[in-house]
Amino acid sequence: MTSRVPVVGGNWKMNLDLASAAELADDIVAGLGASELQCDVMLFPPFPYLHTVGKILGHHAVLLGAQNVWTEANGAYTGEVSTSMLHDLATTVVLVGHSERRHVIGEDDALVARKVRAALAADLRVVLCVGETLDQRHAGQTETVVLGQIRSGLSDVTVPEMARVVIAYEPVWAIGTGATATPEDAQAVHASIRAWISDRFGAATGAATRIQYGGSVTPRNAAELFAQPDIDGGLIGGASLKADAFLAIVRAAISTP
Ligand code: PEP
Repeated sequence: MTSRVPVVGGNWKMNLDLASAAELADDIVAGLGASELQCDVMLFPPFPYLHTVGKILGHHAVLLGAQNVWTEANGAYTGEVSTSMLHDLATTVVLVGHSERRHVIGEDDALVARKVRAALAADLRVVLCVGETLDQRHAGQTETVVLGQIRSGLSDVTVPEMARVVIAYEPVWAIGTGATATPEDAQAVHASIRAWISDRFGAATGAATRIQYGGSVTPRNAAELFAQPDIDGGLIGGASLKADAFLAIVRAAISTP
């Protein structure tokens, strides 16, 4: 970890019901205490629970996040949700390009880039998710794929806007599988991402941009991942559904030097 403030996100995906989402948010807020000041904490409930979870977060520093957003302000886009609708619910951050959106729903780099653009134009923060499949890793294409997703996703982003962007490196083969990249392998990809950002946006932006790791992070493996110099916290799926586990991961992000 470095002087960058770590950032830990809980991606609840399409899990929980209203009561258990409220209970989880309550338990997380209660468990964080003052420690949130040393770590940016983001919660990404399913859309229908944003309102309830947002009310629980209240003036707490935990950021309310959405798992997705549409590119247009309004119109005939059945089933989609706009940036202004997210603002109405006090949502301040959005996941864009999560591997399940890319590989299950079929979002391509061009759509991901448009979503990044729309979210930033609407003053939201963005967590841009990138990562290679197992076949791509075995074919030695990890860096090409990941940097290609970043190049495309950030194609229309300005230096000032980069202050509202977090990158989540999430190898597809590690998401929800129990398999985790080794700290050294993850660090190598994070270092490449940071080098690319420095090259494109300047050294100061490269040094300041937070790059999270995601993919089967648990309280057991979080500290050694977060100890890597270019890993600035995590995007957490399964382990974010239990308050104790999520809080332990937040603590690992805070206490890892
Ligand atoms: C995720 O959904 O972004 C994720 C990393 O999931 P998990 O922690 O369950 O692998």
